[in-house]
Amino acid sequence: MSTTADAIRSADAHSAHNYHPLPLVVASAEGAWMTDVEGRRYLDMLAGYSALNFGHGNRRLLDAARAQLERVTLTSRAFHHDRFADFCSELAALCGKEMVLPMNTGAEAVETAVKTARKWGYEVKGVPDGHAKIVVAADNFHGRTTTVVSFSTDHDARDHFGPYTPGFEIVPYGDLTALAHAVTENTVAVLLEPIQGEAGVLVPPAGYLSGVRELTRERNVLFMADEIQSGLGRTGRTFACEHEGVVPDVYILGKALGGGVVPVSAVVADRDVLGVFRPGQHGSTFGGNPLACAVGLEVIAMLRTGEFQGRATELGEHLHRELNLLIGGGAVTAVRGRGLWAGVDIDPSRGTGREISEKLMELGVLVKDTHGSTIRIAPPLVISKEDLDWGLDQLRSVLGA
Ligand SMILES: *Cc1c(COP(=O)(O)O)cnc(C)c1O
Repeated sequence: MSTTADAIRSADAHSAHNYHPLPLVVASAEGAWMTDVEGRRYLDMLAGYSALNFGHGNRRLLDAARAQLERVTLTSRAFHHDRFADFCSELAALCGKEMVLPMNTGAEAVETAVKTARKWGYEVKGVPDGHAKIVVAADNFHGRTTTVVSFSTDHDARDHFGPYTPGFEIVPYGDLTALAHAVTENTVAVLLEPIQGEAGVLVPPAGYLSGVRELTRERNVLFMADEIQSGLGRTGRTFACEHEGVVPDVYILGKALGGGVVPVSAVVADRDVLGVFRPGQHGSTFGGNPLACAVGLEVIAMLRTGEFQGRATELGEHLHRELNLLIGGGAVTAVRGRGLWAGVDIDPSRGTGREISEKLMELGVLVKDTHGSTIRIAPPLVISKEDLDWGLDQLRSVLGA
């Protein structure tokens, strides 16, 4: 068995340094807990940035995956397979929409949404070819492809990856007036995270999402909600848009849709939008493969019970109550979020987000910093209240609160 230091040295030597992981080496995991190569246990309060909403090694998801592994795993889309229609119709129904275009990663689903909006703009709305504009928000995170980083405002994500894809307009997040000014007759879509995850779990002002909905409907523009991180139970609802009673034209899904087992993403919309694609115009070898569909179907079935949304609501209220008690005590300056999802701004006098994350790791709790002095808390929705309280105890101890 490799020691932690050896494994990290070897990873540093042979992998690109595009991440700065916390210095632990995970060997196994179950539920909300991970075990490292030295046998130490850690409470996972990050859940793969919400890819693990249903916890590690979830029985239902593993059983679904195992059964499918024995039957057929990949066909490509050159043929039909017997899990595809069910996956698409069930996911469409979960979203209250008519059609699904399955992909693999989140960034691919965002790319697919961008292509959908442009094609819809030219063929349905009547925008002159080559002139389509998509309005996005500052401080967004939609993935890492060259087109997606073209409309990022994060220097690390964007710098030295140009030339950039044109056709995007960036407005401040949460500002309806700025958005209304940015929309022109060539605008085909507004693309937003209903809660900005990477930016530090930023919840927009009340009325913003419903205002975006109203504006986009009036101006014949698609409202595309990137629910890759905010969706599928995390905020206490199936979709974060539901908190404002908003139904976007296009849902972009990923992360938890693959149950932490396989990468599964999708764009979900009505026929008048996704119907623009004809054979050969878009695709993916792995998109909608039998294994992905089998796991995705189980995820959808689990979400349909409401059990996980209920847990996120209940435990989330507890989490936010406890975190809010820390504000004003000199350690925490702000807490944001919804459901079992929180961005916690640490007073810089207590250390950077990275330092707090490392100290928490030493006490057996895993979180991740984002943007300097913010830490992001997003445990699997299956976490027990006792474990959540224990994790909060460790946080209080690290913060000296
Ligand atoms: C993670 C994430 C993505 C990108 O997903 P990948 O699977 O990493 O490509 C896009 N949008 C949001 C909101 C995300 O949180």
